[in-house]
Amino acid sequence: MATPLSADRLLAALRAEGVTVVEHPGWRTHHRNHTGAWGPVSGVMIHHTVSSGTASSVALCFDGYDSLPGPLCHGVITKDGTVHLVANGRANHAGGGDPSVLRAVVTEAYGDRPPAPREHQGSPGAVDGNSRFYGFECVNLGNGTDPWPAAQLDAIERVSAALCRAHGWGARSVIGHLEWSDWKSDPKGFGMPGMRDRVRKRLGAAPAARPTAPAQPAAPRYHPFPGTSFFRTAPSSPVITAMGRRLMAEGCGRYRVGPGPRWSEADRQSYAAWQRKLGFRGADADGWPGAASWNALKVPYTK
Ligand SMILES: [Zn+2]
Repeated sequence: MATPLSADRLLAALRAEGVTVVEHPGWRTHHRNHTGAWGPVSGVMIHHTVSSGTASSVALCFDGYDSLPGPLCHGVITKDGTVHLVANGRANHAGGGDPSVLRAVVTEAYGDRPPAPREHQGSPGAVDGNSRFYGFECVNLGNGTDPWPAAQLDAIERVSAALCRAHGWGARSVIGHLEWSDWKSDPKGFGMPGMRDRVRKRLGAAPAARPTAPAQPAAPRYHPFPGTSFFRTAPSSPVITAMGRRLMAEGCGRYRVGPGPRWSEADRQSYAAWQRKLGFRGADADGWPGAASWNALKVPYTK
C-alpha cells in the first residue's frame, strides 16, 4: 500500500523508464475523487479498450460515457507505444473485485497468477478497485485477433515497471482486469504471467536497480607493518624516511645526517632505541622492526 504519486512524480517516473508520454489537456485535475477514495494504492491494472484509433480511444477514456463517466483510466497506451495521460486521481477502470486478489497483490504472495476472482462490480463480497489501482487502457479490439504490436507491449512493460519502481513493488503488483473481476476478460491477446516476467526482468536490470560502484576504501592513516624481511633487504623507500622521522620525534634518533630512504645501520640503532623505550629487551630490542613496535610508532602513510 502506498500514497498515490503526484502528477509530477508520475510523469517523471514514466519518463525515467523510457516511456513516450503525451499529456492530454486537463489530465492533472481530471479524476473522480468526489465519488470515493483514491489510495492507498496497491498495484497497476492493465485493460483493453475494445476500440481502435488513437484520438477516439483517448477521448473515450477521458470523457467516459453516460453510464460510466470518465476518466476511465490514468493512461491510454496506443498501438505505437505512446502513453496518453488522461487522469490524476480516482478513475473508473477497475470497479469491484475480489478481496482475495487484493490481498495477493498487496502481499505479492502468489505464483504465476493470483487466485481466480469470484467477485465483480456489485457482487456482495466485492471491494473497490478504483481506489487501489492505477489503470492503463490499451488500444485493442479485445477480440483475440487484433494484434498487440511490440511497441505497445514494451510500453505496458515500462509503465508497469515505472510504477513498481516508484513504489518499491515487485512485478506481482501488476495484474490484468480479468484477474480482478470474474466478469472481465481484458486484456485479451497476451498473458499477464508473461508480462509480469518482463516487468520482473526490467526491474532487475534497469539503471535505477543497478548496484552502485563500491566506494573507494579510505586511505590508511598509518603505514601497515611491511614485515621484518622487508628491512633485511636494505630497502630504499619513502616509508624508511617516514619511519626515521617518527623515531626522531620520539627521541630515538641515532642518525648523524638525518633519516633517508635507504635502510641503514643508523636506522637499526634508532629503531632499537625505540624498542627499548617501549620496554623491549635483549633480542626483542635488536633494532629489527616487529609488528607491535611498528604499529606503536604510527608511521604516517606514504604512497
Ligand atoms: Zn478493463
